[in-house]
Amino acid sequence: MHEYSVVQALLNQCEEVAAKNDATKVLKIIVKIGVMAGIEIHLFEVAFDTFKEGTLCDEAELIVNPQKLKLECKECGHVFEVDEVRYFCNECESLRVKVLDGEDMFLMSLEMK
Ligand SMILES: [Zn+2]
Repeated sequence: MHEYSVVQALLNQCEEVAAKNDATKVLKIIVKIGVMAGIEIHLFEVAFDTFKEGTLCDEAELIVNPQKLKLECKECGHVFEVDEVRYFCNECESLRVKVLDGEDMFLMSLEMK
């Protein structure tokens, strides 16, 4: 399942950050998941609970912030977020839009001790 590999990558990333900071425990993990990332948030949380065992993150609180699709229009410069998947400007209806956010999972913040 896609969520499993994403969670494992996230846990690896958290352990790397913790190691660099000489931390022994991760207390809180805040991630952002884009609507277009192809990640089911509930499955992501279940996978996290499964894979965190035995890692520095086994007591960490996981906070998931969904990220809407964020687009920038190359014609009129309009920057906007949409709930649905549609790739055109809602001001001038140009199709020349660039995706700024909403297609990935990002580690936003990590609390450690
Ligand atoms: Zn536009």
